[in-house]
Amino acid sequence: MSGQSIYPVSPELAQKSLLTNDQYLSDYKLSIEDPEKFWGDKGKILDWIKPYSKVKNSSYAPGNVDIKWFEDGELNVSVNCIDRHLATKGDQVALLWEGDTPDQDAKITYNQLYTQVCQFANALKEQGIKKGDVVCLYMPMTPEAAVAMLACTRIGAVHSIVFGGFSPDAIAGRIIDSKSKLVITADEGRRGGRTVPLKGNVDEALLRDGTDCVESVIVFKNTGGDVAWFEDRDLDWAEVTQSQPTECEPVAMNAEDPLFILYTSGSTGTPKGVLHTTGGYLVYAAMTFKYVFDYQEGDIYWCTADVGWITGHSYLVYGPLANGATTLLFEGVPTYPTTSRMSEVVDKHNVTLLYTAPTAIRALMAKGNEAIAGTSRSTLRVLGSVGEPINPEAWQWYYDKIGDKRCPIVDTWWQTETGGILITPLPGATDLKPGSATRPFFGVQPALVDNEGNILEGAIEGNLVMLDSWPGQMRTLYGNHERFEQTYFSTFDNMYFTGDGARRDEDGYYWITGRVDDVLNVSGHRMGTAEIESALVSHPKVAEAAVVGVPHEIKGQGIYAYVTLNAGEYPSPELYAEVKQWVRKEIGAIATPDILHWAEGLPKTRSGKIMRRILRKIATGESDQLGDTSTLADPSVVDKLIKENQEIA
Ligand code: ATP
Ligand code: MG
Repeated sequence: MSGQSIYPVSPELAQKSLLTNDQYLSDYKLSIEDPEKFWGDKGKILDWIKPYSKVKNSSYAPGNVDIKWFEDGELNVSVNCIDRHLATKGDQVALLWEGDTPDQDAKITYNQLYTQVCQFANALKEQGIKKGDVVCLYMPMTPEAAVAMLACTRIGAVHSIVFGGFSPDAIAGRIIDSKSKLVITADEGRRGGRTVPLKGNVDEALLRDGTDCVESVIVFKNTGGDVAWFEDRDLDWAEVTQSQPTECEPVAMNAEDPLFILYTSGSTGTPKGVLHTTGGYLVYAAMTFKYVFDYQEGDIYWCTADVGWITGHSYLVYGPLANGATTLLFEGVPTYPTTSRMSEVVDKHNVTLLYTAPTAIRALMAKGNEAIAGTSRSTLRVLGSVGEPINPEAWQWYYDKIGDKRCPIVDTWWQTETGGILITPLPGATDLKPGSATRPFFGVQPALVDNEGNILEGAIEGNLVMLDSWPGQMRTLYGNHERFEQTYFSTFDNMYFTGDGARRDEDGYYWITGRVDDVLNVSGHRMGTAEIESALVSHPKVAEAAVVGVPHEIKGQGIYAYVTLNAGEYPSPELYAEVKQWVRKEIGAIATPDILHWAEGLPKTRSGKIMRRILRKIATGESDQLGDTSTLADPSVVDKLIKENQEIA
């Protein structure tokens, strides 16, 4: 399989990069043997108002999970992301904004960002927001989203961002759970040529029972579209901000004071309100950003994630700005107005570091060379992937086409809960294997365990756990420490359970096989869905695939594969047989799908992840038990699949 190929680090790349393999190996060793020393040192990547004297204090003890880093230190996040860069980089662009259509863009320097954040922080204070209050953000991908986040951190307010594609019910649920006091939104957002009624959705959400914790709503007039206005509640962003002083004293926060709450995607169940704190989170976001992307002065960095996801927190805003980088914020989608938009944005802004998701890569790949037509992408230096396993086929396309075979790909494995990247290649240090997230970042101790929690050694597959804490780890589920312990620490004692499965190869590289709930057991053989999907997608006519298990009289579990074909390809009995045969040849007879379901589209979360738990229910004819569908991007996809399944059955 193509997954076995290796892309070694060239001597030239190693030389130009921040870290070589030898440095990685020796620093990694130190980070595990002496985390106090390692992180005590690395914590200095930030400016502290009061330096810490303690570094790590964490326990995974059953019933007593308690995680603290830098616990007596004090700092302010906005100072670290803005103020400290002003002396040397005041006129450097901090936020580069590219609108939904190519004719809209903006540049905001660190000086300008400072003023905007201070003024908006003062506006928040005027509304009675103080340290510890929760503020809900429901924003479009405009610079104001980052300004609002940073303004919260300046005064110690805790933000809870709800992705701008979520429904009124999803907003209400998160407002109620987090007890938000204020909502920041815009009249409308823009995405792929359509407008999104942000303010209208907030209005509707605030009609729900239990949302009366919200005292006011600040509305940024983005499109100027018509919106309802409630005089006793709604405030115009421009009006409350313009006459504010342009300085705002930053609040000194303890390292363990809450920074933000963020709800997980809901791929596996009801979203969980993950709580991150101030010091450890920012140290970890800053460190990982610097080394994973090999950030160097002059880089133009573009992360396509929305601020509503953890990637948008750690690697669109906090990690890059803490490093004084220029970070590009994109309002639109990679394929609008043309298939080559992503490549065009790279050329327009001379992007050097690009971070995106497999779902976007597969969507572009399905259109062939159109995605790069007429573009050079010659400024690119490092490519990143996050969110799902990237199948070797998509990896190869990303490497060959977007990166012109020049740029290393960092396949970064992590979770909302982990705050930052845990398993990843480092550009100048790690030889790449397409489809593998490779090795742990500094201070990260992954292990594979069997279902009884026994640690497995060598080249083997198992449940992916972490044996000890790292600074960016979540501290609790907001208001529900019991569910926190139950979810992450009760499956295996003294370990953080990720919920994902992985394989480790003979070089110690990790290959994420998918969520353990998705592992199939076919005639006694355990198989990750990711592997079968990867084989399916490697067929030249297949664009995307999702595999689930269905009960099977003889085999225990049978393989049910949803398959989306490339644009211009159509289902036929010949292709049906051919695709099944293809998988058989790629992996073996045991992995041959029992049923292929030709699907025009797959149900995805708003962040683009395939929702296999819904596909499982559809495949087994239990479509009346779909569970929480509030994070589904397009519900009509599900109805269509249910109908098609009934025809197949
Ligand atoms: P929920 O926890 O609510 O079900 P979720 O797990 O999709 O939602 P996130 O925290 O956004 O929420 O996603 C983390 C998960 O995404 C990981 O546990 C893993 O399954 C998957 N993932 C992220 N990056 C990668 C990667 N590089 N390779 C493989 N899988 C990845
Ligand atoms: Mg998860």
